[in-house]
Amino acid sequence: MHITIGTKNRDKLRELKCLMQGAELRVLSLNDFPPCKNVVENGKTFEANAKKKAQVYAAHTKGLALGDDSGLMVNRLNGKPGIYSARFAGSGCTYEDNNRKLLRILKNVPASGRGAKFVCVIAIYDGKKLVGAVKGECRGRIAYSMRGMNGFGYDPVFIPKGSKKTFAELSQVEKNKISHRGRALQKAKKLILNYLNRIY
Ligand code: IMP
Repeated sequence: MHITIGTKNRDKLRELKCLMQGAELRVLSLNDFPPCKNVVENGKTFEANAKKKAQVYAAHTKGLALGDDSGLMVNRLNGKPGIYSARFAGSGCTYEDNNRKLLRILKNVPASGRGAKFVCVIAIYDGKKLVGAVKGECRGRIAYSMRGMNGFGYDPVFIPKGSKKTFAELSQVEKNKISHRGRALQKAKKLILNYLNRIY
């Protein structure tokens, strides 16, 4: 039995593969299959996008597939960039463009107004059937400058609650223990295990 991690984002794939270590399943990625059409992320919620990805990739790989959608929600910006996190600074922008834009917007905002959270929804499909969808969150605040070299995306500007370091200053293992993706995947593992117990 295998599960395919349905993402074309290399950074997310690295984290998800690391988090799936030890699962009694062969973990494959989309690279193990013939090219799959791009999924247009036009859902209005993380959940809608995650389900859409998992459904398309399960049909493409003819097996169990995991789709995830994630992003950063900043209190001061009424939850933005949210589902538009990847393209906050415009289409084709880099992670750094996004971080610069966010820091610019929050330039004069005091610590008390810099609250934010990362959200990740993971959906699992088997063939054409939804196995389930789960959500993980990580609360924190936005730093005043970019710090750290690890991770990806908004990691250099996000300080998780209870920490002085940004996500980009933590190791992969440290980030996975508290991250939105790590939390969602712990729940997703239970879904997968229940599903396998029902099947076998
Ligand atoms: P998507 O889930 O592929 O639509 O992309 C989500 C976007 O949210 C990424 O391109 C990043 O900018 C951001 N993001 C999601 N998860 C993380 C994370 O763990 N660290 C930093 N940025 C993240």
